[in-house]
Amino acid sequence: MTRILIIEDEEDLLMTLEYNLKNEGYQVYPFQTGEEGLEWAIQQGPPDLALLDIMLPGMSGIEVCHRLRLHERTRATPILFLSAKSEDTDRVVGFELGADDYVVKPFHVRELMLRIRAILRRSHTPARPEDESLAVFGLLTMDRTRHQVWIAEQEIFLTSMEFKLLDLLLTNKGRVQSRDTLLTKVWNLNNTAVQTRTVDVHVKRLREKLGAIGDAIETVRNLGYRLREHPHKG
Ligand code: CA
Repeated sequence: MTRILIIEDEEDLLMTLEYNLKNEGYQVYPFQTGEEGLEWAIQQGPPDLALLDIMLPGMSGIEVCHRLRLHERTRATPILFLSAKSEDTDRVVGFELGADDYVVKPFHVRELMLRIRAILRRSHTPARPEDESLAVFGLLTMDRTRHQVWIAEQEIFLTSMEFKLLDLLLTNKGRVQSRDTLLTKVWNLNNTAVQTRTVDVHVKRLREKLGAIGDAIETVRNLGYRLREHPHKG
């Protein structure tokens, strides 16, 4: 089944597109914000095609496009922009963003459907497997090879210990890591009362750097720390 992601903040247009695409037999994933649509694409995607409105209340469609291109999983996802002004299109098509097509609003749904079919015909390549070196957790992305971490658009800078700590928590998400384990695996140290406090200090700093994602690192009383299975509670 062909999966199409739509990010469009105008509710009427979003519903119209959803209705028409479903009629054509596509599986549709509609979102009104870039943040939600991006998270879906990275976690549950990749979609076979992304329809992105440019002007969105938070993260713009252009930012969403950038982010999709950064991830190994969504790097090759065809993108069609829904643009309010024709002036935007120069920036969007053919340049560094490499969008596959665009339509300028207001557009005929029929025309959009034809363009979508054409893009899908051109791009019938199987989705790439997830790159082992990339870890994704909500809006957080870790590139183990390049030693870089991003939250949404923003690269965050971690010390090598904080990086190792986050890597270990991500690899073992949902499972408690005792302070002793962390000391052994991250710091290559054996437990002493003083050293376990080192772990606490580093976890605290890592949580602060991760911002909203930070609270997914849970303290398990008398045991240690655990990264929640899912970035959001419940
Ligand atoms: Ca809009």
